[in-house]
Amino acid sequence: MSKEELSCSFCGRKKPETSLLIAGLDAHICDQCIEQAHGIVLEEATESDDDALSAELSLRKPKDIKAFLDEYIIGQDFSKKVISVAVYNHYKRLLQPKSDDDVEIQKSNIIMVGQTGTGKTLMAKTIAKMLNIPLAIVDATVLTEAGYVGEDVETILTRLLQAADYNLEKAEKGIVFIDEIDKIARKSDNPSITRDVSGEGVQQALLKLLEGTVVNVPPKGGRKHPDQKFIEVNTENILFIAGGAFDGIERAITKRLNMQAVGYSASKEEDKIDENNLLQYIIPKDLKDFGLIPEIIGRLPVLTYMDPLDTKTLRAILTEPKNAIIKQYQKLFEMDDITFEITDDALEYIVEKAIDYKLGARGLRSLCESILTDAMFELPSSDEKSLVVDRNYAEKKLTKSTLSKLKAVS
Ligand code: ADP
Repeated sequence: MSKEELSCSFCGRKKPETSLLIAGLDAHICDQCIEQAHGIVLEEATESDDDALSAELSLRKPKDIKAFLDEYIIGQDFSKKVISVAVYNHYKRLLQPKSDDDVEIQKSNIIMVGQTGTGKTLMAKTIAKMLNIPLAIVDATVLTEAGYVGEDVETILTRLLQAADYNLEKAEKGIVFIDEIDKIARKSDNPSITRDVSGEGVQQALLKLLEGTVVNVPPKGGRKHPDQKFIEVNTENILFIAGGAFDGIERAITKRLNMQAVGYSASKEEDKIDENNLLQYIIPKDLKDFGLIPEIIGRLPVLTYMDPLDTKTLRAILTEPKNAIIKQYQKLFEMDDITFEITDDALEYIVEKAIDYKLGARGLRSLCESILTDAMFELPSSDEKSLVVDRNYAEKKLTKSTLSKLKAVS
């Protein structure tokens, strides 16, 4: 048979009618049939993704979601419970069949208030890990209103697309974690004061994403450019989780609580305010007083708070979570056949220092790093096959390191 007579075994087109004809053992396939087949494969894959999601959900009730979070995050029981329900409802909403009744389940976007280093990002990361969906973490401080120096709000979705390897369907069901949402609060509670660029404008731009809309997203990020192709991303099914420290909001909470207390009998034991954890009394109005616009608060209907980390929690964070810091070092040493042990009093010392330096859980890692760097440098090329770190060792290494100077500076 001459080359001209060869034809596609699927559609029958002759070779000259195709751009490309690929030969198999006993058959041929043309470029057009390849594209069509590819489309079918993609479609099937997303259908099975949906199936996987519903299977995931039928397996994971809110209590199971919380149990999964418990494996990675210490404490924060209230937040875990609230978020488990929100995530469960969010995915129920995604799977609801289109029905004729007017009951439309609305999105359960979440806002978490808590000091830095209390596990807000970790919470978002753990949920994304559990559901195996893409997660984009963005910092609200770099966002600006279109036309100003900084990043357009749309770049949030660029990040999500990147996290989803540009699989649009996956991205449209992903999670966006917006950190430091408190930094785009209106600086003054008086809206008549000249509009402030960094705050309210960005909140307005964000609002559209939270509400659910189709956005033209520059796939590579950066400024919108007339020559750049856009990807249309629908944000309707994206779960937004916002987090912020809202420094100083406790004052507003105390003021409100004190005002409420007038007229009630505040003497009863159960009415006593827990001064060490004022965030637990937070209500949406406090966010408004802090400078978030009411529309944004309305679009983040699930409000939760993070407890401050006490000594006991910090100690547990070092060793208990599934990928606890100490377990990670053990694994690193194990790869060089070195057994690594750390004594209780050394762990207590690390916690004491973390509290001293006011670094929260964030500091635990830097402290361990300072204490163990010498060993991680020396041991792999020595014959020593075990390392025991006690308080004495930890103290010695830390006084040597630059971290110990931190306290003097701060
Ligand atoms: P945030 O987003 O609130 O500032 P992160 O989630 O980034 O804090 O936490 C900082 C570090 O501390 C992370 O490495 C995280 O693993 C650890 N961490 C913080 N809180 C907890 C917690 N409750 N349980 C386990 N690890 C925690």
